[in-house]
Amino acid sequence: MKLTRITENLVQLTRFGLVNCYCVKESDGLTLIDTGLPGSGDDILACAREFGGEINRILLTHAHGDHIGSLDDLAMKLGKVDVVISRRDARILAKDLSLDPGEPKTKIRGSTPGAKTRPTHFVEDGELYGSLRVIATPGHTPGHMSFFDERDGSLITGDALASISEVRVAGDAPWFFPFPNLATWHKPTAYASAKRLAELPIERFACGHGQVRNGGLDTLKTALRHAARLAR
Ligand SMILES: [Zn+2]
Repeated sequence: MKLTRITENLVQLTRFGLVNCYCVKESDGLTLIDTGLPGSGDDILACAREFGGEINRILLTHAHGDHIGSLDDLAMKLGKVDVVISRRDARILAKDLSLDPGEPKTKIRGSTPGAKTRPTHFVEDGELYGSLRVIATPGHTPGHMSFFDERDGSLITGDALASISEVRVAGDAPWFFPFPNLATWHKPTAYASAKRLAELPIERFACGHGQVRNGGLDTLKTALRHAARLAR
């Protein structure tokens, strides 16, 4: 697993060059954001040691298999750890793919293997979790969340955005890496969520797939223009 230090508080962990998770440094240890594919647990623990901390919390952007793949393994190895996700995607984590009455009647897509580990806490839009502002970014999945580090302007986007070549909105990834598109539940909702992110003073985009990208709001505006057709 490749470890890339992004800021003083943020490190990116990459497997197979494509699947990212992140460690965020807090005063009382590390928050791991997403857990990668199955089999990533030991590498994640080794990377966390190198970054200089103990993982005290596992925060999940959403419940797709490439983000929760090593959750059970890590929860077992870490023992006492908070496991945190939105209430909505916790249902997908429990393999319940039913839709709520007000939601678009589109099937939830992508890999949804579920996990045995149960969340200990649910995050809600607007909440401050450690140093991370929780931003509801539904669309890729119904309960997708992004996390904004208010200390340094890093936005950890999960699959709300992807950055394989440039930053792109979920559902608008390039043809040579179509997985974020194929796995996106409802593209107009994903577009509306990405638009809402433009209210934040973003410095960099730390996505679930691809390198961390700088360029702040201009980068996001370019992605929104490129994805405008998804709004319909
Ligand atoms: Zn996903």
